[in-house]
Amino acid sequence: MEDFKVIRDSMVKTQLIPRGIKDEGVLDAMKKVPRHLFVPESSRHNAYEDMALSIGEGQTISQPYMAAVMTELLELKGDERILEIGAGSGYQAAILAELAKKVYTIERITSLADGALKLLASLGYENIQVVVCDGTKGLSDKAPFDRILVTAAAPEIPEPLVSQLNEGGIIVAPVGERFSQVLIKGKKEKGLLVKEQHTSCVFVPLIGEYGLKG
Ligand code: SAM
Repeated sequence: MEDFKVIRDSMVKTQLIPRGIKDEGVLDAMKKVPRHLFVPESSRHNAYEDMALSIGEGQTISQPYMAAVMTELLELKGDERILEIGAGSGYQAAILAELAKKVYTIERITSLADGALKLLASLGYENIQVVVCDGTKGLSDKAPFDRILVTAAAPEIPEPLVSQLNEGGIIVAPVGERFSQVLIKGKKEKGLLVKEQHTSCVFVPLIGEYGLKG
């Protein structure tokens, strides 16, 4: 465990700070969450490398830098209720849970959701709820949210997610083509999203009623 801590600190020093991640809370969370536990055992030696990794079912855990950028763009202060679409391994949810009050994370693949739930519980995260459903529809019974993070790629930000975002809230999502997207940050002002474009990226598709058809 001590060795992994050293490797995590080095990941932050060599991959995140030089590329402009500044938020101390985000850097601390990235130093703390044991990413090697969120990847299959056979990939553990690569857990802190600068790459996305397979987590089974044709899905991936995002590159550490991408997880850090998305988290920084959410501008978390500590009291937010967050909705994440695409729980995958549960890693990003753990990072968010370090920095916010409550995280709802949705996954469409039951086996991934089960694995994430078990691991997050074993690590003691009590402020994360994992839900299995089509995340493109959001989570209307828990809405509205202060922040929404989409970790799979869609041609457009799904409309139900915009409706379920609080006024002044922030949504971050990879938007674009099947193999090439741009990370969009949208802030809800007077009911509409004011959007900024950030880094280019490649995510697995967001499959569902308001995403790509499965
Ligand atoms: N955040 C994850 C992590 O930290 O491991 C990585 C997410 S992975 C890049 C994208 C995930 O989105 C996949 O697990 C995929 O099954 C899920 N997904 C795709 N469409 C979805 C939908 N409509 N609702 C919920 N999850 C969805």
